[in-house]
Amino acid sequence: MNKFVFMFNEGNGKKKELLGGKGANLAEMTRIGLPVPYGFTISTEACNAYYDADKSLPSKIELQVLKALQNLEDQTGKRLGDPSNPLLVSVRSGAVHSMPGMMDTVLNLGMNDETVEGMAELTNNARFAYDSYRRFIQMFSDVVLNIDGFYFEQLLGEIREEKGYQTDPEMSAEDWKEVIKGYKEIVKKYAKRAFPEEPKEQLFLSISAVFDSWNNQRAIVYRRLQKIPGHLGTAVNIQSMVFGNMGDDSGTGVAFTRNPSTGEAKLYGEYLINAQGEDVVAGIRTPQPIVTLQNEMPEVYQQFVETCNLLEKHYQDMQDIEFTVERGKLFILQTRTGKRTAEAAIRIAVELVGEQIINKKEAILRVDPEQLNQLLHSRIDDSFERNPIAKGLPASPGAATGQVVFDADEAEKLAKDDQKVILVRPETTPDDIHGIVAAKATVTSRGGMTSHAAVVARGMGKACICGCESLNIDVKARQFKVGDTVVKQGDIITIDGSTGEIILGEIPMIAPKLSNEFQLLLTWADEERRLGVRANADNPEDARKAFEFGAGGIGLCRTEHMFMDAHRIPIVQEMILADSYAEREEALSKLLPMQQEDFEGIFEVMQGHPVTIRLLDPPLHEFLPDKEELLVEVTKLQITDPTSKELKEKEDLLRKVRHLDESNPMLGHRGCRLGMSHPEIYVMQAKAIFYAIVKVMEKGIDVSPEIMIPLVGHVNELKEMRQLVMNVGLQVKEETGLDFNYLIGTMIEVPRAALTADQIAEEADFFSFGTNDLTQTTFGYSRDDAEGKFLQAYIENKTLPENPFATLDQEGVGKLVETGVKLGRGTKPGLKTGICGEHGGEQHSIQFCHEVGLDYVSCSPYRVPLARLAAAQASIKSELRQSVVKVRV
Ligand code: ADP
Ligand code: MG
Ligand code: MG
Repeated sequence: MNKFVFMFNEGNGKKKELLGGKGANLAEMTRIGLPVPYGFTISTEACNAYYDADKSLPSKIELQVLKALQNLEDQTGKRLGDPSNPLLVSVRSGAVHSMPGMMDTVLNLGMNDETVEGMAELTNNARFAYDSYRRFIQMFSDVVLNIDGFYFEQLLGEIREEKGYQTDPEMSAEDWKEVIKGYKEIVKKYAKRAFPEEPKEQLFLSISAVFDSWNNQRAIVYRRLQKIPGHLGTAVNIQSMVFGNMGDDSGTGVAFTRNPSTGEAKLYGEYLINAQGEDVVAGIRTPQPIVTLQNEMPEVYQQFVETCNLLEKHYQDMQDIEFTVERGKLFILQTRTGKRTAEAAIRIAVELVGEQIINKKEAILRVDPEQLNQLLHSRIDDSFERNPIAKGLPASPGAATGQVVFDADEAEKLAKDDQKVILVRPETTPDDIHGIVAAKATVTSRGGMTSHAAVVARGMGKACICGCESLNIDVKARQFKVGDTVVKQGDIITIDGSTGEIILGEIPMIAPKLSNEFQLLLTWADEERRLGVRANADNPEDARKAFEFGAGGIGLCRTEHMFMDAHRIPIVQEMILADSYAEREEALSKLLPMQQEDFEGIFEVMQGHPVTIRLLDPPLHEFLPDKEELLVEVTKLQITDPTSKELKEKEDLLRKVRHLDESNPMLGHRGCRLGMSHPEIYVMQAKAIFYAIVKVMEKGIDVSPEIMIPLVGHVNELKEMRQLVMNVGLQVKEETGLDFNYLIGTMIEVPRAALTADQIAEEADFFSFGTNDLTQTTFGYSRDDAEGKFLQAYIENKTLPENPFATLDQEGVGKLVETGVKLGRGTKPGLKTGICGEHGGEQHSIQFCHEVGLDYVSCSPYRVPLARLAAAQASIKSELRQSVVKVRV
């Protein structure tokens, strides 16, 4: 026969799956001798059995509950429903993962018209007994009978007023009796039945209600947010009551063993004298800080502090503890691992190592890498009340204040004058990059979390809100409307990229800092990780930031962003539009020193650490004016000024733009295909790189360049481009008389490259998996179209488990990565491999990269600390798994 019910002394802290978190910890605390009111737990399996039986409790479970109840009655010497010595219990929910306040609890169960009198007599405190009874009726009615608490509050308020009282403690026993009479009428009216007086009926109704609360709306939403599976079910804990509402020598409270916001090793909590359960959080009375308990009840305080220390040592982590004092005696009602901010998580983990409670590896595992984001961006001072005018998607964390601008050029202009601006656009395109760079933050009314603006902003560590659809943006009129509010260019707004909120005016900020504890934790992580961590950086500033955050190199330097600069783009256009080879050469020769300068800057910052430079990748039309805008201009000129020179030039331009136009640019003339048909572009870039190497080496600084050919699908492409680059290398060596080393490798970003990696490795010194494009080409999705049109729905409907552009699709794209590594290393055993898609900064993908044996991950500079930590966690976790396997063998 299955066992569904466990007395507190039959369980332990490890049985969370079966007993729920609360039940397992109550059992554990009972086991180590703490003062826990006795009781029993009905398991999560019983919850599932309840649902399997169409929401009814199978009789075998009912029998086990009755037996446990009898056991509890024997232990306490009280009986449920016995007027002369009544047992009162709480019925408490408790899921496997803590879901604070999401499900239901009933206190004081077992009270009825008879037991209340027994209680009054036994305690010699009629006021207390009737107060407890009315609390029970109210809670039971809410949880079990689904009657809105409002009716009870209203009646209580009326009676209080009638008697001329300000607060509940002024109510006498007689007053409470009157309230109880009224309460029972409310029950009759709204539940269409009498209040159940029979305690066992009360008990079983409450158990069912707690099981039902597993599927209330709040709980479902919370589970979705926290990614807790719905099949786990909740346990129910039946526990004998203790009373914090027995007078001034009683009370109830909650405390964290350390400060959950800063991590400071100091008790942090609140309590209320003469109160029960939810009073502390309900906000009706203002609780007192825990330290004052030292004066009010010195002995209890002392005992509580000792218990907190003991629990923290026992669980080896900061605890969140609920307690009640009944007539000077302390009871512990709950303990769990306390939730905390990133700042606190780091400080606590590091200090627990200092106190020799945990080791460094454990400390590394304690901090959630994703949470570190909170620490690397300035943020709004939380003590400030905010009134957002709109809310969009929290696309890139951090907060910023500035004046609104609607145009990238304008943003750049104002930023040059040291003005703080926030770029507000319906959406952004690569043409707006300079505006995003110049602005403190970007807001768009269209596009999702992975839209262009979001990706770029995250890459730069800048705050961004996307898809804020309530903004009605009129770029021409330079204003946006949201409801009745009109915000004009130049108006100041503040945005919070961590919440998606837009607020009018300026709000105080807190600057980001890498605390000493944070630095220390990261150095421990560096000792553990096998994966290298590099950064994606396109300019010296980003490279510097990355280096500061501990990047061991640059994994991806995209040269096209260097072309986007407002001063350069006309020359780039000249190069693209050139009619003759000579014209093109001339434009290229102007670009060369500019590129060279960028490379020198990056090499200098990186001081001999590897720098992977990718040759030009995007289709050329991305550098040209928009076709439709151009068409409008031409049409206008044809009417207003049909003979002008301007018209002729524009028509010319339009023809070329049309010529470059592609029906499917993502799969079109880009990557090494450009280099194949316009070798002069790659030659110029290679020259700029080699000249930069020479220049920097001459300053006595080491350089380790890695030149990367994008979008290779066939080994012959790489072979040809490699030869081209090497020829330039030889030329520069001859010309300067200096020798230097460099690697040539490729991005693996189309399936064919991964599948023929054995051949490609013949021509490559390294592989870098470009998982953004590899995801697009593996799924056959164009990212923008997917994210704009159907991906959201796919994820919501669980067609796909996750956005594959955010978390690497291990089964599909990952299989190609794994295949690429295996085949490549089959040809060249020491082949260097890395990843440079956005996945390189996402913890689950990092874990995968560790497992398939990549040498490094590369991510945006602001995600470098996260990646260092995640890489260490990956290696500790696989070590732990291996030791488990060994033990099994
Ligand atoms: P939640 O999961 O929402 O925190 P709990 O089951 O912890 O709900 O119950 C809420 C509060 O009710 C507890 O913090 C405690 O103050 C009170 N409570 C629960 N059980 C008892 C009990 N046996 N004796 C006294 N108070 C109790
Ligand atoms: Mg609780
Ligand atoms: Mg690519």
